[in-house]
Amino acid sequence: MELDWQTCSRARLSRDARFDGKFFIGVRTSGVYCRSICPAPTAKEKNVRYFPTAAAAAEAGFRPCLRCRPECSPGTPAWLGTPTTVSRALRLISESGLEDGGVEVLAERVGVGSRHLRRLFLQHLGATPIAVAQTRRLHFAKKLIDESSLPMSQVALASGFGSVRRFNAGIRKVYARTPSQIRRLARLTEFQPDNHYLFRLRFRPPYHWEGMLAFLAARATPGVESVESGVYQRSIALNGRQGHFSVSFDPEKQSLTARVQFDDPRSLFFITERIRAMFDLNADWSAIAKSLKADPALAERVEKLPGLRVPGCWNGFELAVRAILGQQVSVKGATSLAGRIAKTFGQPLVTGNGLTHVFPPPEILADANVASIGLPRARGETIRALARAVCEGRIRFEEVLDSRLFLARLCEIPGIGTWTAQYVAMRALGEPDAFPSGDLGLLRALGLARTAELERRSETWRPWRAYAAMYLWSVPGASKLLKNVPGKNAVVPSPEKVDSALTTYRI
Ligand SMILES: [Zn+2]
Repeated sequence: MELDWQTCSRARLSRDARFDGKFFIGVRTSGVYCRSICPAPTAKEKNVRYFPTAAAAAEAGFRPCLRCRPECSPGTPAWLGTPTTVSRALRLISESGLEDGGVEVLAERVGVGSRHLRRLFLQHLGATPIAVAQTRRLHFAKKLIDESSLPMSQVALASGFGSVRRFNAGIRKVYARTPSQIRRLARLTEFQPDNHYLFRLRFRPPYHWEGMLAFLAARATPGVESVESGVYQRSIALNGRQGHFSVSFDPEKQSLTARVQFDDPRSLFFITERIRAMFDLNADWSAIAKSLKADPALAERVEKLPGLRVPGCWNGFELAVRAILGQQVSVKGATSLAGRIAKTFGQPLVTGNGLTHVFPPPEILADANVASIGLPRARGETIRALARAVCEGRIRFEEVLDSRLFLARLCEIPGIGTWTAQYVAMRALGEPDAFPSGDLGLLRALGLARTAELERRSETWRPWRAYAAMYLWSVPGASKLLKNVPGKNAVVPSPEKVDSALTTYRI
């Protein structure tokens, strides 16, 4: 556990929201475990135990508190460092839709023995992989019971229990109540029509919503995404079905409000996890800020824009296409090209709330005449080559275990350079240490002339270089004058490394 006892104690007594989800409190006298922000009267220190995760508290025999609802806390932060086995395994657990058991398979996928994986989980998370997966499943079920009007049989399926009997037994064992009793306790304040689900997705404050929204707004693909009156909206397609979701900001509840319209509840877990990743809700900003503030060049920006996150994406393939389209054109230009791709090759959306299309999948673009929308032939070919690589399984955006291998594969595609690959890793994999060091905007923000210098400088920002990039791009003028490279001997990145999708990035 990264946090010491004193820190936990202080955070608990002050109900500090910045620590929400970073540790859990087991109260011996009541047998429940709580978040650091629990409104219940604080227990005496001698009666509490601290756990690094909810799963660890559950394994020690504590039940989730019905007042502070541990299932609503922000996710496990990425303080485990970047390419660690544990964080990769956690990513797999969140992407797998919570399938049962399978620790052997999980261990095999991350390339270690199952006993070793178990040991690592116990060491870092205080719980076994199975306990982590089970706790997540139970928490998700609890959220659906409380926050949706989905029939219990559907809740059981959506949360991966396999059968209603096992779902009932699981809930009863953990909450000492039946699912129906729990639903009666929850006060559903908003009526949800069929296939509409409302989720409150928590974050650890601060959260720079304006920065996130401005970034997404500038890049919103017409017909597929929109940003209006503080609400982000987009169409989605999963397993042959269509839907859409919207996300807005609720600072008082320290959460984002996600409204999902999708008619297969089994995908809800995947969808909400993806939204969490897209809006970078699991970030531990205070740890990031502490580290970045050590560099005077970043300190002022970090102070000025508290809670800046790294925007992720809904779909890695779509993002990579967008990054290729952004090479050598303005953000506006790339956005309109992306809209043309969506309208020409994407499926029309049946009920879209103003959205008209879903972005075309790789299967369609692999054989499409992409350049026909008004692209240089070479760039159209790059997109087709990417689509083919995804179809053939050479490139996968999900379940990425080795980001170096992922980057190498991406760079094998003619027309994709290090810049584009790093940018994709930053936004599609959520790799907090990804860093497009060939970016002129970043060089400009620091007044540096060479990529090598920037790389050297960036060593001290590890493992948060993606966040450092966001702060540097926010420096006024940092990303404006792409053509004017500072210094005579500057190394000018080749055009494909310059994704000008970012050139007008401003907060
Ligand atoms: Zn509580």
